[in-house]
Amino acid sequence: MAKADLMDYDKALELYEVVIGLEIHVELSTKTKMFSDAPNPANEANHDAAPNTLITPVDLGLPGSLPVVNQTAVEYAISLGLALGCEIAAKSTFSRKNYFYPDLAKNYQISQYDEPIAFEGSVEIELADGSLVQIPIERAHMEEDAGKLTHLGGATGRIQGADASLVDYNRAGVPLVEIVTKPIMGTEGSAPEVAKAYVATIRDMVRSLGISEARMERGNLRCDANVSIRPRGQEKLGTRTETKNVNSLRSVERAVRHEIQRQAAILSAGGSITQETRHWHEDTGTTSPGRPKSDADDYRYFPEPDLLPIEPPASLVDRLRAKLPEAPAIHRRRLREAWGFTALEFQDVVNAGLLVEIEDTVAAGAAPAQARKWWTGEIARLANAAGAESGGLISPLHVSELIALVESGKLTDRLARQVLEGVIAGEGRPSEVVAARGLAVVSDDGALLAAIDEALAAQPDVLEKLRDGKVQAAGAIIGAVMKAMGGSADAARVRELVLERANV
Ligand code: ADP
Ligand code: MG
Repeated sequence: MAKADLMDYDKALELYEVVIGLEIHVELSTKTKMFSDAPNPANEANHDAAPNTLITPVDLGLPGSLPVVNQTAVEYAISLGLALGCEIAAKSTFSRKNYFYPDLAKNYQISQYDEPIAFEGSVEIELADGSLVQIPIERAHMEEDAGKLTHLGGATGRIQGADASLVDYNRAGVPLVEIVTKPIMGTEGSAPEVAKAYVATIRDMVRSLGISEARMERGNLRCDANVSIRPRGQEKLGTRTETKNVNSLRSVERAVRHEIQRQAAILSAGGSITQETRHWHEDTGTTSPGRPKSDADDYRYFPEPDLLPIEPPASLVDRLRAKLPEAPAIHRRRLREAWGFTALEFQDVVNAGLLVEIEDTVAAGAAPAQARKWWTGEIARLANAAGAESGGLISPLHVSELIALVESGKLTDRLARQVLEGVIAGEGRPSEVVAARGLAVVSDDGALLAAIDEALAAQPDVLEKLRDGKVQAAGAIIGAVMKAMGGSADAARVRELVLERANV
């Protein structure tokens, strides 16, 4: 549907009540896969592997191969379940979800069906205005990821119109936890913001648990957004659509908003909503139909005969519970106080999804105010220009090193921005970029004095003024010196030296 045909957002909310439901797939960052000992590409160490190099017979479903459960993946799933406020099942089982697709060599995905490892939880999220919303969690279950298809030729990168498709089985068997919310009611106009804040909260949660790299741009965390609307006063829930794999926080918010406006336009014109999956298009900000979806998708689920039930001992669950980090909302409150940010400053950080980055930068030694300045300023600007997420551009460790160089006077802000660009361009850590590009502040008084003398000789009137006590005249010399040194001089030190030279 073209943008012009959507219903006005406020009008849509006057007429309809919005219900959303979110499914998030989290790729766990264990060393090896869910059911095999192949290295896990969702672990940073294996991220750059060439296609089809991280595979074993199990991942390809070769005859005679058998799955073995990854204990660490189970422990990660339990930790996540606990963090979601869920009950942990004393006994949970794996099932086969049967379907054919070329990225699924076995023709079935091992998942959990009627006995998930975690169920019935609740997650508190915080909106921009500071209000808190409880998101009800239906279940969190373990499963394996499928491989990845790349469609060549054709305009959209989708299978339609493609000339050929390539398959990479590296991702086949990557451990996943799928977190499913119950239908979320009563969010009204803030439904899009709730969806975004929830995904951000889950992202922060899995990172602080240390169980996933959680980089949305890499697909470590993928959200499917279910949206339905119903006329105000109607009891029965409306028909939902499921917008798949919305892969940034901003897109989650935009996709939900778009679906509300699209569905409202259809219903108010007397039409009906088709239950289907939809694709999100970042460039146009619209969704298009995927495949029809019935509630009883006939996957012929049946118990996985090759795997025993998971029966975690209570002592293990207790041990994992004791190790849990604070809940995200409590954690945020504590950080806000520790960092001394105003409510507005802090909210900016949360909205930009930079909490973890700043936290890690502070942990690496930077002052909170400096960490905030760099992440929400220059780094966000560069990320925006590159159409990327700030967190994916540069590591907190490097940001902290950059800040230390500025604080110690080795870099001016201007030089630091150039160093930042170098680090992002992959030229190395900040100190290496400084050395390679020759960007350090000139703190050698000899070099500064030579430039000052030259500037003073070129502007003899300034010297007169300085000697007459007109100290502000020094600005012209400082400017000339900064220019001569390509901005790499410490302006305060230049000023001291100019005044010293003029005997003021
Ligand atoms: P599927 O197999 O279709 O993905 P799931 O149970 O995994 O089904 O997820 C469905 C999601 O949609 C859940 O988050 C659920 O709360 C939500 N949902 C179900 N019905 C509606 C509805 N009418 N409107 C909005 N969301 C809904
Ligand atoms: Mg689902």
